[in-house]
Amino acid sequence: MMRKVTFPHMGESYRTFKMLLNDLGNEVVLPPRPSRKTLNLGVQYAPEFACFPLKILMGTYLETIEKGANVLVTSGGVGPCRAGLYAELHKRILHDMGHPVEMIVFEPPRLYPLNFIRNVYKLNPKRLSIKSIIECIKRAWRKLQALDNAEKATHVVRPRELTPGTTTKTYKKVLEWIDAAYTMDEIIEAEKAALEEIYKIPQDPERLVLKVGIVGEIYVLLEPASNLEIEETLGNLGVEVERSMFLTGWTRDNTWKETVEGMTVKDAAMPYLPELIGGHGRDSIGNTVLYAKRNFDGVIQLAPFTCIPEIVAKTILTSVSRDYNIPVLTFFLDEQTGKAGMTTRLEAFVDLMKRKKLLRKTGKILRPASAL
Ligand code: SF4
Repeated sequence: MMRKVTFPHMGESYRTFKMLLNDLGNEVVLPPRPSRKTLNLGVQYAPEFACFPLKILMGTYLETIEKGANVLVTSGGVGPCRAGLYAELHKRILHDMGHPVEMIVFEPPRLYPLNFIRNVYKLNPKRLSIKSIIECIKRAWRKLQALDNAEKATHVVRPRELTPGTTTKTYKKVLEWIDAAYTMDEIIEAEKAALEEIYKIPQDPERLVLKVGIVGEIYVLLEPASNLEIEETLGNLGVEVERSMFLTGWTRDNTWKETVEGMTVKDAAMPYLPELIGGHGRDSIGNTVLYAKRNFDGVIQLAPFTCIPEIVAKTILTSVSRDYNIPVLTFFLDEQTGKAGMTTRLEAFVDLMKRKKLLRKTGKILRPASAL
């Protein structure tokens, strides 16, 4: 039987994985952007109390299996939370349903180099030499960086755009340029053109723009469909967001060079939480401290419903918020979360941060229109 490979959908990263897997000689089934159908499938076949990302992934796998996928490539997880069990659980459920899929699980390469080598070998039907594989991985990594950099640029420009919607439209266009780039030179060229195109969008230099840091669990941070495009909504509300996590930062130690103290996320979280609690709970705390030190106007925590590390982080973030005088808003996301409700809470949060900022700047208290 012909092997057809697929993987979870996480933002725009599928463009890179498609290229890399094709280069190694695999036939790829592209995962669709998670939709209502994905969620319904996931909810139907995943255990009721499973975390939200597990349900979305379940739905994605079923959608891609429908299109012929039989090899699922995913990441594992370390630390005391359920992430490490995801792949095995998915595999068992799918096998029980009569889908004999092969599961290839990548653990963090720095901790498990052998697992990495073995898995790359399994995904290399062309039997490329090690040198060629390294070249393919380097090119894929560079494309991932280009995608991340284009996305970061939209976070800066969207809240300042003169015509609403221009950034989102331009972003969709430039993504295709990066997608079409293949050689290293083409990728660098496409990235340069994409950034120029985004930064040349007409902007209002006078606008009062707030800065908000986004922290939380990796999947709901990286997949806009799972967080109801919160970053785009915030941008449209005049907020420049800085997300604490990108796929290109996943394997690195998160040293935060911008802080004066040169503190790592782990150092920053240490006074509040000296232990690893799994998932990205400790990162959520450390990043909030660092955002506060950089005078951000607020922080938003995105957490899957029933995610223990983020629940623990949320309780601790109350103290961080008080100690550093920074507003923190948490969203627990699941299949019931609606965009309208989220937008209303965001508008209220933005209003609060604006008043705080104006008070700091002018010393004047801004009263709500209804109170005037
Ligand atoms: S980090 Fe949270 S959402 Fe992810 S597996 Fe662990 S408990 Fe579930």
